Amino acid sequence: MRYFIGNWKMFGVPKSINILNKINSFYSKDKNRKKYRVIITPPYTLIETFSKHFKSKKISIGSQNCYQKDQFSSNTAAISPFMIRSVGAKYTLVGHSDNRVEGDTNIMLKNKVHFALKNNLKVVFCIGENRADKKKKKTFSVLKKQITKVLDKKMNLNNIIVAYEPIWSIGTGNIPTENELFKTTLYIKKILKSINKKKRPLVLYGGSVDGKNVKMFKEIREIDGFLIGGASKSHKKFIDIIKNYYR
Ligand code: PEP
Repeated sequence: MRYFIGNWKMFGVPKSINILNKINSFYSKDKNRKKYRVIITPPYTLIETFSKHFKSKKISIGSQNCYQKDQFSSNTAAISPFMIRSVGAKYTLVGHSDNRVEGDTNIMLKNKVHFALKNNLKVVFCIGENRADKKKKKTFSVLKKQITKVLDKKMNLNNIIVAYEPIWSIGTGNIPTENELFKTTLYIKKILKSINKKKRPLVLYGGSVDGKNVKMFKEIREIDGFLIGGASKSHKKFIDIIKNYYR
């Protein structure tokens, strides 16, 4: 099963549901639809409306983040996994680099993953090195640390998807070479296998994916799908990625 996950970031108002309606009508008729899933993570403000609207449809709705506590607390503006699940989301991103730079630590991320799973949310756990790490050839050691400090064998790893998103690639148009990405994906899978041989998260790629470069990515069979930022805000661009992936 492949995954095409659209991360809307700080984008979207109620009428943006039109974008999802168009993606949904493509998906419902696509001859390849059994081979992949579509998940969209709109901002918190739209989760309930979108989840209700797409409840019986093909598209699943996720959150872009969650707070590191379980149900209710006195933290102003915080939104817990329990609250997210209660409005119909089925997934949540955890550890997106936008949130890591704003202060998410490994301990916070571990709690987020734990409470998200506890509340029946599937977790899309984001990891990725920055440009300086890459220059210093530290990519593998950074990724290993990001994974092993947060994921552990007590977690239900079947309900976790790992998204490899090199920070230097997000929103820049720069992408890894086929060889780099092949090696890094294999390395991530090796680390995940060392945590639990039987239950292994799928591994997605994210960072400037578009309708053109997806043709290169599809050559790497080890990549189980994509986390798509900018291009997911346009139904045409998002659909083009799926179409060109299966072309
Ligand atoms: C993202 O922010 O998760 C992302 C992958 O963004 P983009 O596709 O725009 O690089």
